[in-house]
Amino acid sequence: DQLSSELEETNTGVVALYAELDERGRELTAANEAKTRFLRNVSHELRSPVNSILGLTSLLVDSHLDADQAQQVTFLRESATTMLQLVDELLDLARAEAGHEDVEPALVDVPRLLDELHGTTLPLLRPGVTLRTVATHRLPLVTDRRLVARVLRNLLANAAKFTDEGCIEFTAETEGDLVRFEVRDTGLGIPEEQVESVFEEFVQVPNRLQPSVRGTGLGLPYARRAAQALGGTLEASSRLGSGSTFTLRLPSLPFDERPQDAPAGAL
Ligand code: ADP
Repeated sequence: DQLSSELEETNTGVVALYAELDERGRELTAANEAKTRFLRNVSHELRSPVNSILGLTSLLVDSHLDADQAQQVTFLRESATTMLQLVDELLDLARAEAGHEDVEPALVDVPRLLDELHGTTLPLLRPGVTLRTVATHRLPLVTDRRLVARVLRNLLANAAKFTDEGCIEFTAETEGDLVRFEVRDTGLGIPEEQVESVFEEFVQVPNRLQPSVRGTGLGLPYARRAAQALGGTLEASSRLGSGSTFTLRLPSLPFDERPQDAPAGAL
């Protein structure tokens, strides 16, 4: 009897603990949703005034200004452009965090995609830096082309930004039933212990080009969310002074189009 009452007590305790955990979980989810909603509203509200500033400054650029004024107006325009970019990236991130990213899978012509991205990256390269793009993957890729292009564009723009000599390699290969994209650079690199932090919001690792190279620190957090929305992963490895590698792995087919019924969430 003693034993059974003790058991009952433990049981009640466990049930109460589960109820409490459940409650905490709900609170956390609600807090997270509130944060996302706040981010979305703020960035949305900021967009139109910043757009007005940008429009009016562009008009000023064309008016008769002396050299000093022209320089100030140029600075104003650059600042407003940076701010608009920040607002846009915040909005994208909030959308991705809320799981509202639109994913429309279709068969992607990977060599063509790589070719296009190669072309749009060339103008971003610093003098003397080369870009080598190679697609050797043998699997079809069914995914959201717009989203995967955004992630890769982001990685390529970063590689271009932080590489002042050497070569950037951009590849697509097969890895099991995944397609693996890699952007490898011989640039400044990131201290090993700080590599993971670049996926956190607003993190910019100090290096010899920053802060003169401007950015928002929101590109990679967004890119990782977008990769996850595609059922894939985005990872980085780097060494200070010898370059960085960013790896995007995507399932060749979306879950519901696999030959055997793979459970959702399994990779
Ligand atoms: P942004 O480029 O706008 O600063 P990101 O989120 O894209 O924001 O990148 C965050 C930071 O990670 C960068 O500011 C930079 O310090 C570091 N980083 C990203 N890509 C590279 C790279 N290829 N080589 C060196 N550092 C990088």
